[in-house]
Amino acid sequence: MSEHVPAARPELRQDPTLDRWTVVAPERGARPGARLEPGGHGYVQAEECPFCGGREYQTPPELAARRDPPGTADGPGWRVRVIPNRFPAVRRDVPGGALLDGLFRRHGGHGAHELILEAPEHVVSLTDLSPARAAEAASVYRERVAALRADGRFAAASLFKNVGPAAGASVEHTHSQLIALPVVPRTVVEELDAAERYRCENGRCLFCDLVERELAAGRLVRESMSFVAVAPYASRVPYETWIFPRRHGAHFDEIAPDEAAELGAFLHGVLTQVERVADRPAYNFYVHAAPFAAPASVPYHWHLEVVPRTTTQAGFEWGTGFAINPLPPEVAAARLRDAAG
Ligand SMILES: [Zn+2]
Ligand SMILES: [Zn+2]
Ligand SMILES: [Zn+2]
Repeated sequence: MSEHVPAARPELRQDPTLDRWTVVAPERGARPGARLEPGGHGYVQAEECPFCGGREYQTPPELAARRDPPGTADGPGWRVRVIPNRFPAVRRDVPGGALLDGLFRRHGGHGAHELILEAPEHVVSLTDLSPARAAEAASVYRERVAALRADGRFAAASLFKNVGPAAGASVEHTHSQLIALPVVPRTVVEELDAAERYRCENGRCLFCDLVERELAAGRLVRESMSFVAVAPYASRVPYETWIFPRRHGAHFDEIAPDEAAELGAFLHGVLTQVERVADRPAYNFYVHAAPFAAPASVPYHWHLEVVPRTTTQAGFEWGTGFAINPLPPEVAAARLRDAAG
Protein backbone atom coordinates (compact mmCIF):
# COMPACT_ATOMS: atom_id res chain seq x y z
CA MET A 1 0.00 0.00 0.00
CA SER A 2 1.46 3.35 -1.00
CA GLU A 3 2.12 6.12 1.47
CA HIS A 4 -0.49 8.82 1.03
CA VAL A 5 1.05 12.16 0.16
CA PRO A 6 -0.36 15.00 2.27
CA ALA A 7 -3.00 16.89 0.32
CA ALA A 8 -1.90 20.15 -1.32
CA ARG A 9 -5.36 20.53 -2.85
CA PRO A 10 -8.68 19.88 -1.18
CA GLU A 11 -9.77 16.27 -0.98
CA LEU A 12 -12.46 14.31 0.84
CA ARG A 13 -11.40 11.40 3.00
CA GLN A 14 -13.79 8.82 4.38
CA ASP A 15 -13.37 7.45 7.88
CA PRO A 16 -13.06 3.65 7.32
CA THR A 17 -14.87 2.99 10.61
CA LEU A 18 -17.93 5.16 9.88
CA ASP A 19 -19.54 6.56 6.74
CA ARG A 20 -18.14 9.91 7.69
CA TRP A 21 -16.26 12.29 5.40
CA THR A 22 -13.68 14.90 6.24
CA VAL A 23 -12.82 17.65 3.78
CA VAL A 24 -9.07 18.11 4.05
CA ALA A 25 -8.72 21.68 2.83
CA PRO A 26 -5.20 23.07 3.21
CA GLU A 27 -6.15 26.50 1.85
CA ARG A 28 -8.71 27.03 4.60
CA GLY A 29 -5.84 27.56 7.05
CA ALA A 30 -5.04 30.86 5.31
CA ARG A 31 -8.47 32.38 5.80
CA PRO A 32 -9.08 35.25 8.16
CA GLY A 33 -9.93 34.08 11.63
CA ALA A 34 -8.85 30.50 10.93
CA ARG A 35 -8.19 28.88 14.25
CA LEU A 36 -5.84 26.01 13.63
CA GLU A 37 -4.29 26.45 17.06
CA PRO A 38 -5.88 27.29 20.38
CA GLY A 39 -5.82 31.02 20.93
CA GLY A 40 -5.81 31.66 17.18
CA HIS A 41 -7.18 35.06 16.43
CA GLY A 42 -9.70 36.64 14.38
CA TYR A 43 -13.12 37.72 13.49
CA VAL A 44 -13.18 40.27 10.68
CA GLN A 45 -15.29 43.26 11.68
CA ALA A 46 -16.42 46.49 10.00
CA GLU A 47 -13.07 48.34 9.73
CA GLU A 48 -11.46 45.73 7.50
CA CYS A 49 -14.60 44.10 6.07
CA PRO A 50 -14.24 42.98 2.44
CA PHE A 51 -17.98 42.28 2.10
CA CYS A 52 -19.18 45.88 2.58
CA GLY A 53 -20.59 47.78 -0.40
CA GLY A 54 -17.86 49.95 -1.95
CA ARG A 55 -15.16 47.34 -1.30
CA GLU A 56 -16.15 45.04 -4.17
CA TYR A 57 -12.56 45.17 -5.47
CA GLN A 58 -11.45 43.27 -2.37
CA THR A 59 -13.36 40.12 -3.34
CA PRO A 60 -13.12 37.78 -6.34
CA PRO A 61 -15.38 38.79 -9.30
CA GLU A 62 -19.06 38.19 -8.60
CA LEU A 63 -20.97 35.16 -9.91
CA ALA A 64 -24.39 36.83 -9.69
CA ALA A 65 -26.01 39.86 -8.10
CA ARG A 66 -29.30 41.65 -7.59
CA ARG A 67 -28.83 45.35 -8.25
CA ASP A 68 -30.87 48.32 -9.39
CA PRO A 69 -30.29 49.50 -12.96
CA PRO A 70 -28.01 50.89 -14.16
CA GLY A 71 -25.44 48.73 -12.48
CA THR A 72 -22.20 47.10 -13.46
CA ALA A 73 -20.83 43.80 -12.24
CA ASP A 74 -18.47 44.26 -9.30
CA GLY A 75 -19.59 47.84 -8.88
CA PRO A 76 -21.68 49.24 -6.06
CA GLY A 77 -25.48 49.41 -5.96
CA TRP A 78 -26.16 45.72 -5.29
CA ARG A 79 -28.67 44.35 -2.83
CA VAL A 80 -27.52 40.71 -2.83
CA ARG A 81 -24.17 39.61 -4.23
CA VAL A 82 -22.75 36.12 -4.86
CA ILE A 83 -18.97 35.63 -4.95
CA PRO A 84 -16.63 32.64 -4.93
CA ASN A 85 -15.06 31.96 -1.54
CA ARG A 86 -11.45 33.14 -1.56
CA PHE A 87 -10.59 30.30 0.83
CA PRO A 88 -12.59 27.41 -0.61
CA ALA A 89 -13.18 24.08 1.10
CA VAL A 90 -13.58 22.49 -2.36
CA ARG A 91 -12.72 23.80 -5.84
CA ARG A 92 -14.07 23.60 -9.36
CA ASP A 93 -10.57 23.11 -10.83
CA VAL A 94 -9.76 20.03 -8.75
CA PRO A 95 -10.62 16.78 -10.50
CA GLY A 96 -13.26 14.63 -8.82
CA GLY A 97 -13.32 10.87 -8.82
CA ALA A 98 -13.17 8.32 -6.06
CA LEU A 99 -9.98 6.47 -5.16
CA LEU A 100 -9.88 3.39 -3.00
CA ASP A 101 -6.50 2.60 -1.46
CA GLY A 102 -7.05 -0.47 0.67
CA LEU A 103 -8.98 0.75 3.68
CA PHE A 104 -8.79 4.34 2.66
CA ARG A 105 -11.35 5.90 0.41
CA ARG A 106 -10.87 9.41 -0.85
CA HIS A 107 -12.41 11.72 -3.34
CA GLY A 108 -10.99 14.67 -5.24
CA GLY A 109 -12.16 17.91 -3.67
CA HIS A 110 -14.13 18.81 -6.77
CA GLY A 111 -16.88 21.23 -5.95
CA ALA A 112 -17.78 24.86 -5.63
CA HIS A 113 -17.79 27.18 -2.66
CA GLU A 114 -19.84 30.36 -2.95
CA LEU A 115 -20.68 33.16 -0.56
CA ILE A 116 -24.05 34.89 -0.72
CA LEU A 117 -23.81 38.42 0.72
CA GLU A 118 -27.33 39.40 1.75
CA ALA A 119 -26.61 43.11 2.23
CA PRO A 120 -24.07 45.78 1.21
CA GLU A 121 -24.32 47.42 4.63
CA HIS A 122 -22.39 45.95 7.52
CA VAL A 123 -25.03 44.01 9.44
CA VAL A 124 -24.59 40.76 11.35
CA SER A 125 -27.80 38.75 11.33
CA LEU A 126 -30.47 38.20 8.70
CA THR A 127 -32.86 39.83 11.17
CA ASP A 128 -30.97 43.14 10.83
CA LEU A 129 -32.60 43.39 7.39
CA SER A 130 -36.31 43.80 6.68
CA PRO A 131 -38.42 40.68 6.02
CA ALA A 132 -38.70 41.79 2.37
CA ARG A 133 -34.93 41.82 2.01
CA ALA A 134 -34.65 38.40 3.68
CA ALA A 135 -37.21 37.26 1.10
CA GLU A 136 -35.00 38.46 -1.75
CA ALA A 137 -31.98 36.74 -0.15
CA ALA A 138 -33.85 33.42 0.01
CA SER A 139 -34.79 33.81 -3.66
CA VAL A 140 -31.08 34.06 -4.43
CA TYR A 141 -30.40 30.96 -2.26
CA ARG A 142 -32.83 29.01 -4.43
CA GLU A 143 -31.35 30.33 -7.69
CA ARG A 144 -27.78 29.45 -6.70
CA VAL A 145 -28.68 25.92 -5.58
CA ALA A 146 -30.54 25.48 -8.89
CA ALA A 147 -27.49 26.74 -10.80
CA LEU A 148 -25.14 24.29 -9.06
CA ARG A 149 -27.57 21.43 -9.62
CA ALA A 150 -27.87 22.32 -13.32
CA ASP A 151 -24.08 22.13 -13.59
CA GLY A 152 -24.54 18.35 -13.49
CA ARG A 153 -21.14 17.52 -11.98
CA PHE A 154 -22.00 17.69 -8.29
CA ALA A 155 -23.71 15.11 -6.05
CA ALA A 156 -25.26 17.56 -3.61
CA ALA A 157 -24.93 21.01 -2.15
CA SER A 158 -24.97 22.37 1.35
CA LEU A 159 -26.46 25.81 1.93
CA PHE A 160 -25.72 27.17 5.38
CA LYS A 161 -25.16 30.26 7.47
CA ASN A 162 -22.82 30.91 10.39
CA VAL A 163 -23.59 33.94 12.56
CA GLY A 164 -21.18 34.86 15.35
CA PRO A 165 -17.73 33.45 16.18
CA ALA A 166 -19.29 30.74 18.38
CA ALA A 167 -21.09 29.48 15.26
CA GLY A 168 -17.90 29.43 13.23
CA ALA A 169 -18.23 32.73 11.38
CA SER A 170 -14.88 34.29 10.49
CA VAL A 171 -16.38 37.45 9.00
CA GLU A 172 -19.01 39.42 10.89
CA HIS A 173 -20.79 40.82 7.82
CA THR A 174 -23.95 38.81 7.10
CA HIS A 175 -23.36 36.10 4.49
CA SER A 176 -24.45 32.57 3.74
CA GLN A 177 -22.38 29.86 2.12
CA LEU A 178 -23.11 27.31 -0.52
CA ILE A 179 -20.81 24.33 -1.01
CA ALA A 180 -21.39 21.90 -3.87
CA LEU A 181 -19.93 18.47 -3.12
CA PRO A 182 -18.81 15.38 -5.04
CA VAL A 183 -20.50 13.12 -2.45
CA VAL A 184 -23.81 13.26 -0.58
CA PRO A 185 -23.42 14.39 3.06
CA ARG A 186 -23.89 11.66 5.62
CA THR A 187 -26.71 13.45 7.47
CA VAL A 188 -28.78 13.54 4.29
CA VAL A 189 -27.95 9.87 3.57
CA GLU A 190 -29.09 8.92 7.08
CA GLU A 191 -32.30 10.96 6.87
CA LEU A 192 -33.01 9.48 3.46
CA ASP A 193 -32.46 5.93 4.78
CA ALA A 194 -34.88 6.60 7.66
CA ALA A 195 -37.46 8.07 5.26
CA GLU A 196 -37.12 5.10 2.90
CA ARG A 197 -37.64 2.63 5.75
CA TYR A 198 -40.65 4.63 6.96
CA ARG A 199 -42.23 4.67 3.53
CA CYS A 200 -41.73 0.91 3.16
CA GLU A 201 -43.45 0.31 6.49
CA ASN A 202 -46.15 3.00 6.36
CA GLY A 203 -46.48 4.04 2.75
CA ARG A 204 -46.20 7.72 3.63
CA CYS A 205 -43.61 10.48 3.87
CA LEU A 206 -41.79 10.43 7.21
CA PHE A 207 -41.47 14.21 7.24
CA CYS A 208 -45.10 14.93 6.33
CA ASP A 209 -46.18 12.69 9.21
CA LEU A 210 -43.57 14.21 11.50
CA VAL A 211 -44.91 17.73 10.95
CA GLU A 212 -48.41 16.55 11.84
CA ARG A 213 -47.19 14.88 15.04
CA GLU A 214 -45.07 17.89 16.08
CA LEU A 215 -48.06 20.21 15.71
CA ALA A 216 -50.32 17.86 17.67
CA ALA A 217 -47.70 17.70 20.43
CA GLY A 218 -47.62 21.47 20.93
CA ARG A 219 -44.17 22.09 19.50
CA LEU A 220 -45.28 24.61 16.89
CA VAL A 221 -43.06 27.70 16.72
CA ARG A 222 -44.48 29.59 13.74
CA GLU A 223 -46.64 28.97 10.70
CA SER A 224 -47.46 30.67 7.43
CA MET A 225 -49.38 29.75 4.31
CA SER A 226 -46.60 27.50 2.98
CA PHE A 227 -44.31 26.84 5.97
CA VAL A 228 -44.35 25.39 9.46
CA ALA A 229 -41.63 25.76 12.11
CA VAL A 230 -41.37 23.38 15.05
CA ALA A 231 -39.09 22.73 18.02
CA PRO A 232 -38.28 19.12 17.11
CA TYR A 233 -39.10 16.23 19.46
CA ALA A 234 -35.42 15.41 20.10
CA SER A 235 -34.05 18.97 19.88
CA ARG A 236 -30.29 18.92 20.44
CA VAL A 237 -29.95 22.45 21.82
CA PRO A 238 -32.30 25.02 23.38
CA TYR A 239 -34.47 26.69 20.73
CA GLU A 240 -33.42 24.40 17.90
CA THR A 241 -36.09 24.97 15.23
CA TRP A 242 -36.84 23.10 12.01
CA ILE A 243 -38.70 24.70 9.14
CA PHE A 244 -40.71 22.46 6.79
CA PRO A 245 -42.58 23.36 3.62
CA ARG A 246 -46.21 22.23 3.92
CA ARG A 247 -46.12 21.13 0.29
CA HIS A 248 -44.20 17.87 -0.01
CA GLY A 249 -41.07 18.19 -2.12
CA ALA A 250 -37.62 16.57 -2.11
CA HIS A 251 -35.63 19.36 -3.76
CA PHE A 252 -35.18 22.83 -2.29
CA ASP A 253 -34.38 24.35 -5.69
CA GLU A 254 -37.71 23.13 -7.09
CA ILE A 255 -39.83 25.40 -4.92
CA ALA A 256 -41.65 28.19 -6.73
CA PRO A 257 -40.07 31.68 -6.69
CA ASP A 258 -42.89 33.03 -4.50
CA GLU A 259 -42.37 30.15 -2.05
CA ALA A 260 -38.67 31.01 -1.84
CA ALA A 261 -39.57 34.62 -1.03
CA GLU A 262 -42.09 33.47 1.57
CA LEU A 263 -39.42 31.21 3.09
CA GLY A 264 -37.05 34.18 3.50
CA ALA A 265 -39.64 36.27 5.34
CA PHE A 266 -40.64 33.22 7.40
CA LEU A 267 -37.03 32.47 8.33
CA HIS A 268 -36.64 36.12 9.31
CA GLY A 269 -39.60 35.68 11.66
CA VAL A 270 -38.22 32.47 13.21
CA LEU A 271 -34.77 33.97 13.73
CA THR A 272 -36.34 37.05 15.33
CA GLN A 273 -38.18 34.78 17.80
CA VAL A 274 -34.95 32.90 18.59
CA GLU A 275 -32.97 36.11 19.04
CA ARG A 276 -35.60 37.52 21.43
CA VAL A 277 -35.71 34.50 23.72
CA ALA A 278 -32.00 33.62 23.65
CA ASP A 279 -30.58 37.19 23.67
CA ARG A 280 -29.21 37.22 20.11
CA PRO A 281 -27.15 34.03 20.26
CA ALA A 282 -24.66 32.90 17.65
CA TYR A 283 -26.50 30.53 15.32
CA ASN A 284 -26.25 28.29 12.29
CA PHE A 285 -28.88 27.32 9.84
CA TYR A 286 -28.64 24.89 6.97
CA VAL A 287 -30.86 23.35 4.32
CA HIS A 288 -31.23 19.59 3.96
CA ALA A 289 -32.43 18.55 0.51
CA ALA A 290 -32.39 15.38 -1.59
CA PRO A 291 -29.23 14.49 -3.53
CA PHE A 292 -29.12 16.35 -6.86
CA ALA A 293 -29.61 13.23 -8.97
CA ALA A 294 -32.55 11.88 -6.94
CA PRO A 295 -35.90 11.84 -8.77
CA ALA A 296 -38.70 14.02 -7.41
CA SER A 297 -40.41 10.83 -6.20
CA VAL A 298 -37.62 10.03 -3.72
CA PRO A 299 -39.12 9.81 -0.18
CA TYR A 300 -37.42 12.94 1.07
CA HIS A 301 -38.84 16.25 2.18
CA TRP A 302 -36.44 19.19 2.17
CA HIS A 303 -36.25 21.34 5.29
CA LEU A 304 -34.17 23.98 7.02
CA GLU A 305 -32.71 23.50 10.50
CA VAL A 306 -31.86 26.46 12.77
CA VAL A 307 -29.35 25.66 15.53
CA PRO A 308 -28.69 28.42 18.09
CA ARG A 309 -25.23 28.02 19.62
CA THR A 310 -26.18 28.30 23.25
CA THR A 311 -24.30 25.19 24.41
CA THR A 312 -20.86 23.75 23.56
CA GLN A 313 -20.04 20.24 22.46
CA ALA A 314 -17.91 18.57 25.11
CA GLY A 315 -16.37 15.14 25.57
CA PHE A 316 -19.63 13.27 26.05
CA GLU A 317 -21.10 14.71 22.84
CA TRP A 318 -17.92 13.99 20.83
CA GLY A 319 -17.62 10.53 22.33
CA THR A 320 -21.18 9.36 21.92
CA GLY A 321 -22.85 11.52 19.30
CA PHE A 322 -25.49 12.26 21.96
CA ALA A 323 -26.55 15.79 22.70
CA ILE A 324 -27.52 17.03 26.15
CA ASN A 325 -30.28 19.61 25.97
CA PRO A 326 -31.19 21.33 29.25
CA LEU A 327 -34.41 22.82 27.81
CA PRO A 328 -37.39 20.57 26.91
CA PRO A 329 -38.50 21.47 23.37
CA GLU A 330 -42.12 21.91 24.55
CA VAL A 331 -40.96 24.73 26.85
CA ALA A 332 -38.76 26.16 24.08
CA ALA A 333 -41.68 26.15 21.63
CA ALA A 334 -43.97 27.94 24.10
CA ARG A 335 -41.35 30.64 24.74
CA LEU A 336 -40.66 31.05 21.03
CA ARG A 337 -44.38 31.41 20.30
CA ASP A 338 -44.64 34.07 23.02
CA ALA A 339 -41.78 35.93 21.37
CA ALA A 340 -43.53 36.09 17.99
CA GLY A 341 -44.44 39.65 17.26
ZN1 LIG B 1 -19.12 44.58 6.07
ZN1 LIG C 1 -43.32 14.95 2.82
ZN1 LIG D 1 -32.39 17.38 8.41
